[in-house]
Amino acid sequence: MDKLQGGFDLDGVLALTQQSLLKELQTRGFYIGRKFEDVRTWEIEKAFPGEITVKNVMDVFHTPKFWERIEACPFLLAGAKNVSEKGVELHIVTARAPNEFIGNVETITRKWLWYNGIVYNKLAFVKASDKHKYCVEKKLDFFIEDRGDTAISISNTLSCCSYLIDTPYNKNTTTYFPLVVRKSRVYFQDFYRKHYGDKNCYTEAKYEARNTASHYE
Ligand SMILES: [Mg+2]
Repeated sequence: MDKLQGGFDLDGVLALTQQSLLKELQTRGFYIGRKFEDVRTWEIEKAFPGEITVKNVMDVFHTPKFWERIEACPFLLAGAKNVSEKGVELHIVTARAPNEFIGNVETITRKWLWYNGIVYNKLAFVKASDKHKYCVEKKLDFFIEDRGDTAISISNTLSCCSYLIDTPYNKNTTTYFPLVVRKSRVYFQDFYRKHYGDKNCYTEAKYEARNTASHYE
């Protein structure tokens, strides 16, 4: 049996980055009274036009320890540890860019992963628009993402199960591709149980991906 390989996005998936960003902006007097549920675009500066600028966001990113202090999503963190322990090869694939950091992006990211106890096989820095290519090249069986457009491009590869985390800012994502499944974080409890609950599920997950893809070949 082939070893299952999976990918996790970092910001908005394993890391609750948008929530931390909103909180930090509010301590600076921006977006007062706004709730995370009201943020309907992953680019937070576009959520409420005219209220903040890209520079305000970059200022937060450049605040010492901002990235280090981001909380992990407890559920997905547990899920990542769980699949890793079960022998799934885990890739963390992030679009974080050097200009968003005052220190070294890779060092800070690896430290955060270590601090949160995430065991992974590979950390890759890949632009959002290239993540689908990465999934094909590395033969990933599934990918967990929070950006709607990225999740769709991954589902379009027809070789990688694309799971879209349910967040306020991807509610408008629409697609007819069946591999994009937008579910709540709670859904992943079922996801992990189903795919990784016992050893037979590895085969089941692969079969499911291929079977669905075959309708479009
Ligand atoms: Mg993300």
